[in-house]
Amino acid sequence: MSSSRKKFLLSPYTLNIFLDCPRCFWFHVIKGKEFRRPEPPTSSLPVGMDNIIKSYFDQYRKINSLPPEVSSTLKGKLIEQSLIKDWRFWKTGLKFTDTDGQTLCGALDECLISEGLYIPVDYKTRGFDLKEDSHSYYIFQMSCYNFLIKKNNYPVSDYAYLIFYISQAIKGEGLVKFKIEVKKINTLKPDKVYETFRKALETLELKEPPPASKDCQFCLWAQRIIESHKKQLRLF
Ligand code: SF4
Repeated sequence: MSSSRKKFLLSPYTLNIFLDCPRCFWFHVIKGKEFRRPEPPTSSLPVGMDNIIKSYFDQYRKINSLPPEVSSTLKGKLIEQSLIKDWRFWKTGLKFTDTDGQTLCGALDECLISEGLYIPVDYKTRGFDLKEDSHSYYIFQMSCYNFLIKKNNYPVSDYAYLIFYISQAIKGEGLVKFKIEVKKINTLKPDKVYETFRKALETLELKEPPPASKDCQFCLWAQRIIESHKKQLRLF
């Protein structure tokens, strides 16, 4: 690829859109905000919870320990505060720029060291119990973190942890009880992540967006709306 080509900054989130649908990914990156796939209304609660959990883990980091409710399921110790502070923010976080100047970056919630290896950890807040495959949606995201940690010259393993906080009941004085479940997931090989990164970049080279999936309900809906407008215009 020539060095005069446009440089992109991708993330595990945007690569997940690519895996979901290359066409939506093309619009998301090339056309920007106004052409992005509509998202359902989001709540600030998960972001607030993430921040509370981060501070909670930071308290245990100070005493070189793990919160008791996860200490038997998480193996390792929390990485130092200065490092996780940087890794939690995408601007100071983990970045990899390949020889073509294309960049992948990511922001981690938490990271452990176990037997000298760095193990990424992500918190997930849920309103319902886990299904058997609830964790599978996050495999690529966690694989990206392992890839990025490795590319920043820290030794990694082939797994990561997800910590699910599942709301259960409300107690007096506004206290909400959460069930906590830790899932250890096997991550993809770094080559696989890089391959996806390159394929995504190839899609961004296209002058026109790639075709839509035949059975995506969003696209079928948009097509119906366009056809209906065309019909109405013909009536006038
Ligand atoms: S098929 Fe259309 S709406 Fe569906 S994901 Fe792809 S581009 Fe987006």
